[in-house]
Amino acid sequence: MARLSEHFRDEDFRCRCNFCKGQEFRIHLGLVGVLEMIGEHFKKKVSVLSAYWCDEHYESLNRNSRSYHTMGKAAHIKIEGIELNELFKYVETIEGLNGLGFYPKEGFVHIDTRPSEKKESWIKEGESYTSITAEKRRQYGL
Ligand SMILES: [Zn+2]
Repeated sequence: MARLSEHFRDEDFRCRCNFCKGQEFRIHLGLVGVLEMIGEHFKKKVSVLSAYWCDEHYESLNRNSRSYHTMGKAAHIKIEGIELNELFKYVETIEGLNGLGFYPKEGFVHIDTRPSEKKESWIKEGESYTSITAEKRRQYGL
C-alpha cells in the first residue's frame, strides 16, 4: 500500500474487478492532484468509486470507444454531503479536466484528464448519454 498524496493511496485507484482482483493499476499523477484540489475546495473527503480499469475489466464492459479509465486518467467520484450538481459545477471550472460526465442516477461524477482537443462533457440518463444543453443545465441545476 503506497501513499500517492496527502489523502489518496494506491488502493483508491486500483482496478476493482474479479479478473485482476486489484493487482493492476495505473494512475496519472495529474489526476491525483486534481482530486486533492477538489477535496480542498469542499473541505471534505473525495470518494473514488472507480478509477483504473484493467484490460479484462474494460473488455467485459463491451464499450466501443477506448476509455481513459484504462490509461489511469479517469475516475468516478462523489463526496458525502455534497450535492452532485454542486460537485459537477465545480469540476467544470478545473483546468485540465477535459472529460466530464454527470451521472445523476448512479450518483457520481466522471472526471478525466484527456487532451484538451478531445474535450467532452455528457449526462448519463438511464442507458443513454446526452450532451449538456442549456435545457439540461436547468433541469439538473448545473
Ligand atoms: Zn481488473
